Amino acid sequence: MLLVSMVVYLSLVGMLSFNNNSTRYAANLQIPETPDSVITLYSGETVETGSIGDVFDKMQHPYTQALFRSIPLPGADKNTHPLVAIPGNFPLPHERPNGCNFGPRCDYFEAGRCDAADIKMSEIMGDDRHGARCLRFAEIDWDAPITIGEQKEKAPIGEVVLEMKNLKKYYEVAASALFGGGNTKVVKANETLTFQARESETLAIVGESGCGKSTFAKVLMGLETATEGEILLDGKNIEMVPIEDRETQTIADIQMVFQNPFDTLNPSMTIGRQIIRALEIFKIGKDENARRERMLKLLDLVKLPRAFAERMPRQLSGGQKQRVGIARAFAGGARIVVADEPVSALDVSVQAAVTDLLMEIQREEKTTLLFISHDLSIVRYLSDRVMVMYLGHVVELGSTDQVFSPPYHPYTEALLSAVPIADTSIEKKHIVLEGDIPSAMNPPSGCPFQTRCNWKSQVPDGLCDREVPTEQVLADGHHIKCHLDAATLATMEPVIKIAAE
Ligand code: ADP
Ligand code: MG
Repeated sequence: MLLVSMVVYLSLVGMLSFNNNSTRYAANLQIPETPDSVITLYSGETVETGSIGDVFDKMQHPYTQALFRSIPLPGADKNTHPLVAIPGNFPLPHERPNGCNFGPRCDYFEAGRCDAADIKMSEIMGDDRHGARCLRFAEIDWDAPITIGEQKEKAPIGEVVLEMKNLKKYYEVAASALFGGGNTKVVKANETLTFQARESETLAIVGESGCGKSTFAKVLMGLETATEGEILLDGKNIEMVPIEDRETQTIADIQMVFQNPFDTLNPSMTIGRQIIRALEIFKIGKDENARRERMLKLLDLVKLPRAFAERMPRQLSGGQKQRVGIARAFAGGARIVVADEPVSALDVSVQAAVTDLLMEIQREEKTTLLFISHDLSIVRYLSDRVMVMYLGHVVELGSTDQVFSPPYHPYTEALLSAVPIADTSIEKKHIVLEGDIPSAMNPPSGCPFQTRCNWKSQVPDGLCDREVPTEQVLADGHHIKCHLDAATLATMEPVIKIAAE
């Protein structure tokens, strides 16, 4: 199901696995972006097919259009071009409607016509093998602007709520399962994280799998305690207080939305009961009635029908379950929400809706959102600041504009070049990173990134091999951990270029 409705987007990403050089490409963070043709599938049928140029720029099927409107493209702005989610749900094979399968979710649906009989592919005259399964394609004004609902202004960014100072988290693991006995090795999952986060701010944390993103979240939540350094919540140290010793208020203040909504809900408890449980834990509401009332308000907040209170988790779709996860996170009036890949398990059309929901709640509640993601398109779209991690280090930290334009940390540059972009007007530089990410148990000497860095030869005297770089400040609030000097950094070119009209 996921695959079927993501096919346009995945035709780019999917190339990774179809290319004969796939492992090399995947390891090198390089994505070939020149498939010739695209197929959009919906509910088991091809609904549009054609060349990349035709399907991306002159689409002729409402579902292709809806998919493009639900993914953040570079240049998209959350205020002027918010993502538009596709209403409703995907029909299961036995629930397919008469006529057009997409009909019930289509903005252009015409009763009596679109639902009358099966619809055949029509060829789009003048294009090369471009076809669409839509009766109305010739009548639709494909260039009409998107009508968007009223947008709420984002609250201004406020006081510092959270501060991390030189936070370290090391894990001790047995050096060898075979020989065991006393020998331990250290995994440096987090090395000196230093940052602040403010009220109403979205700070994105990005980096490849294994770079320490979830570890940092666990230490913040109190699921692990720090090895060194400080975490200050409203100026109060919490880094050594495990969750069982934390005050209820602290627990309610810092909440988490998990990647996988499927295993965070209790399968044998109704949705309403699970939310009420959270309210009990946070000591909210004077009695059962008050908590029930608050639970219904939380369902309103996450835009789920109140009748869902009586449903079991298995009766909910992935996106709906994630909304319940969000409702629980906000049950105690959380001020800091750590969202660890909150939408990566969801279908693209649902991602837009859940992302939008998080931002809407943030505007209302002035939440500090720590948004952990490997999807730089979403990060660019929604965050105020970005923190880039590599092997436990923060290698770059700055405003979203600073991080997404040169000068970059060499690692950020490579990450950006790996972003799949479904937009033919965008030019992108391809950067090949040699080798794999080293193990956190056995990190390289000197700069953590030196084994894969393309810029290393620009730094004299083997400095990168010997010393961990200190952080340099490139501009106000823009920090990078790199030995490159300012003159070399200034020669960096943008990775993603929006072609001139
Ligand atoms: P990410 O979320 O960025 O993928 P993690 O924070 O989960 O990364 O992991 C960072 C590093 O710490 C990895 O090398 C991982 O194997 C290691 N690690 C995470 N948790 C533990 C643990 N409980 N014990 C030992 N090593 C761990
Ligand atoms: Mg993780």
